Amino acid sequence: MHPTTYNAKAYSAASEKSPLASTTIPRRDPTERDVQIDILFCGICHSDLHSVRNEWSEFMPTVYPIVPGHEIVGRVTKVGSDVAKYKPGDLVAVGCLVDSDRTCPQCKAGFEQYCPNLTLTFNSPDKYLGGVTYGGYSASIVVDEHFVLHVPSNLNVAGTAPLLCAGITTYSPMRHWGVSNGKKVGVVGLGGLGHMAVKFAHAFGARVVVFTTSPGKKEDALRLGADDVVVSRNADEMQKHAGSFDFILDAVSADHDFNAYINLLGRDGNLTLVGAPAEPLDVAAFSLIMRRRSLSGSAIGGIAETQEMLDFCGKHNITADVEVIPIQKVNEAYERLLKSDVKYRFSIDMASLKFE
Ligand code: NAP
Ligand code: ZN
Repeated sequence: MHPTTYNAKAYSAASEKSPLASTTIPRRDPTERDVQIDILFCGICHSDLHSVRNEWSEFMPTVYPIVPGHEIVGRVTKVGSDVAKYKPGDLVAVGCLVDSDRTCPQCKAGFEQYCPNLTLTFNSPDKYLGGVTYGGYSASIVVDEHFVLHVPSNLNVAGTAPLLCAGITTYSPMRHWGVSNGKKVGVVGLGGLGHMAVKFAHAFGARVVVFTTSPGKKEDALRLGADDVVVSRNADEMQKHAGSFDFILDAVSADHDFNAYINLLGRDGNLTLVGAPAEPLDVAAFSLIMRRRSLSGSAIGGIAETQEMLDFCGKHNITADVEVIPIQKVNEAYERLLKSDVKYRFSIDMASLKFE
């Protein structure tokens, strides 16, 4: 199918060494099942940076130019004739997924994120226009209604955008592994994902310990809902928690020794990796064998669970702590992200695109 298109302002990178710069991209005119959205805010995920710089070249090589961005909140401007759930004016959100086959066992079970034929919001083959999909660092986007979400009206809009990736990626594994009242939960890395994990684990009633390499984040961790904070470079502090955790979520973006964290798990404890450093990691067999520990990974969440997460956030008034920036500051923001210098998510105000 080749629908007609219109032009939208956006920011793209031309190569792994190029900064993001102003451009114009085509978007399809909405087909029957599509929702057209004016983007208000888009969060900056570390995955955007990994992709722009082609750091995951082995698993998902980047096709240039790339328009990143998968933490999108906006206002509906137009809907196709078959769209039932949305109307112009609605406040809506789009996360990492814009399509899947909807017939495979994963899709049928609500796990669209594990569909073998999924379409990611950026850098996935675009079955409508050819080339690859373009993400949320843009003025508007057109998405099949199944992949559009309702935003609770009480939430701060800039702080809602990061829920679409940082939020669901931490909410989903904690639900899966039964994080609840009385459980002891560790969160490794207090970045965009990590700070959402702290908020959710606290809201689920768990006792939360944050592991950080940044001593300056201690007070924030407590304010965000942690009961204790460990500076992970301090071996004595780490040792105090040996064998005591039910669940640990590792949300670190760079290479690090996560065996140190496996050893903090108790019997049947689980460590889930959501952080995605490019290099393979070494695991010590005995760390897992002893106490029947397990190590797993998790990717974002399905569409129904993402809506459930947004509704949970609406009920408990949970949003990300954001630093709002104009799109013109995006390259500077990437450099700061690499230095763990953001509290705790950049959210791009897309109104700034009108100055391009
Ligand atoms: P982020 O905001 O940059 O946070 C990463 C945190 O990791 C930093 O704030 C820092 O926390 C810690 N860190 C950084 N470098 C470190 C190092 N060398 N050693 C130890 N700790 C270090 O990134 P994010 O957006 O939250 O994303 C985190 C990771 O999750 C990325 O790899 C991203 O691609 C991945 N991700 C995965 C999924 C998924 O579906 N699985 C979804 C989204 C993102 P402290 O300052 O507290 O130490
Ligand atoms: Zn992300």
